[in-house]
Amino acid sequence: MIRPAFVLAATVLAVPATAQQPTFSSQRLSQHVQTLGSDAYEGRGVGVAAETKTVNYLVQQFRSAGLQPGGATVNGRRGWTQPVPLLQSDWQGTPTLSMTVAGQQLPLTQGQEIAARAPTNGQSALNLQNLPLVFVGYGVRAPERNWDDFKGQDLRGKIMVVLVNDPDFEGPLADAQNGDFGGKAMTYYGRWTYKYEEGARQGAAGVLVIHETAPASYGWATVKNSNTNTMFDIVRQNPAAEHPPLEAWIQQDLAGRIFAASGTSLEQMKAAARRRDFRPVPLKATLTAQGQARTQTITSQNVVGILPGRTRPDETVIYTGHWDHLGIGQPDANGDRIYNGAMDNATGIAHMIEQARAFARGPRPERSVVFLAVTAEEKGLLGSEYYAANPLYPVEKTAGVLNTDSMGVFGRARDFSISGTARLELLDMLVEEGRRLGRTFTPDPNPQSGGFYRSDHFTLAKVGVPAISFRSGQDLVDGGVARGEAIAREYTEKRYHQPDDEYLPSWNFEGIAADATLLHAVGRRLANSTAWPNWSPDSEFRAARDASAAARGGAAQPSGAPPVPAPSEPAPTPADVAGERG
Ligand SMILES: [Zn+2]
Repeated sequence: MIRPAFVLAATVLAVPATAQQPTFSSQRLSQHVQTLGSDAYEGRGVGVAAETKTVNYLVQQFRSAGLQPGGATVNGRRGWTQPVPLLQSDWQGTPTLSMTVAGQQLPLTQGQEIAARAPTNGQSALNLQNLPLVFVGYGVRAPERNWDDFKGQDLRGKIMVVLVNDPDFEGPLADAQNGDFGGKAMTYYGRWTYKYEEGARQGAAGVLVIHETAPASYGWATVKNSNTNTMFDIVRQNPAAEHPPLEAWIQQDLAGRIFAASGTSLEQMKAAARRRDFRPVPLKATLTAQGQARTQTITSQNVVGILPGRTRPDETVIYTGHWDHLGIGQPDANGDRIYNGAMDNATGIAHMIEQARAFARGPRPERSVVFLAVTAEEKGLLGSEYYAANPLYPVEKTAGVLNTDSMGVFGRARDFSISGTARLELLDMLVEEGRRLGRTFTPDPNPQSGGFYRSDHFTLAKVGVPAISFRSGQDLVDGGVARGEAIAREYTEKRYHQPDDEYLPSWNFEGIAADATLLHAVGRRLANSTAWPNWSPDSEFRAARDASAAARGGAAQPSGAPPVPAPSEPAPTPADVAGERG
């Protein structure tokens, strides 16, 4: 391990560095990934036999690591899990989909030109007959940004066609931080989840998101695999308020054909959609969609272990990671149907198990340390959304969340990163502890992919908890940035959310071991601290945190140090291992 020749004089929270620095076993990390990523675990689907097997493995590993049960209380005793009720929806057979484009009948094949999600709006039947399509640009209604793509257009009984990402992803403002939507970095308005939510608020009968690889940040294979199998949602009182009857993606070529038939083009429509004065454009096309879904409520499980704090057990530091992956789905070219998810996210779970062992063996911190392995991340961050809505430990006294989702398996890196461009004192701590270990922080090179909204820390950030999703670095000790980028590119293209996300004997777990040392230092420092690190004053999550300041025994605490500056010039690296979440 490279050591810095000096220790930083100023620390964000004025907590001295601790001497304890456990070592992590590459061999154990590798063993967990091999086991959880093996075909025997069937891609760790939710609500199937593989879930029971995975949950059992986690409970056994958390117990033998030295944790105590930290889940829901049953008969006065905490168990190892938190039950998560989920709505499950599967197509019965294949939905029948077609369009009429400029008078011409056009049958559509599920998974090829279109990927229609099984309904989660509370209905099991989908029956849309010849409904008109309306292009709504980026489909954004953002009063605080003085932006409204709808301009009062009535979308009831209509199908909304929408671009993915937000209005300054492309065009003249893409490189400007002062664009209405923060330049190339994705705001939540750019996420497809937002498009569906807004479609429901507009009363649309359906939403078709136009797939383009760059603004989506992943290819059609990912869209197809993530949207044509079983759909889930947390059980909601009024699901139709969140989900329109039809939620689907369409291929760029199909969109081009519809625009051409309507006397325009995708490029022209995108240029128009970048403008504040954009108005919805009725298209010369209608959609017919029929399908029957089997819907049921199932109960999945978050797995939770805890080490109660020595002096302030009601205050917590939480390590999170999702145990689920995509399960069994469409076969790839080799006929492989098991989406092993070895990197996504057996690696993050392996890290959590070994992190638990390190904490259990070391001196007990003042605050409690919780290990929360959540379900249904790949279904839309549902396990963590359920936890945030039904917290086992008060969110106002949760000092911070450190999430791990898809860690590097190609040896040690000189740098490290987080997903997205959040600004918070927890990140300052991470950067400082990294520096002590001789490692440097590299901002997310690809903030336009919306990484901040794509893993489980986000649902906790939404309720104000300082939360980051750690990312392994790409500047590899062996091979540098060039090798790190090449590996990331290969993973995104060939393996991410595909059956080939499989364990390989060539994987080197020393990088995760080093990352674990860093994440341990941050977690221990926070768990031994009396401080409550906050979001930067301009963060969209700051208000939610400040609202609960009284529960932490005081007013909102001033920042002890200026927040890490936003990465105005992200390192010019290409697509990274971040990918579609949920
Ligand atoms: Zn993941």
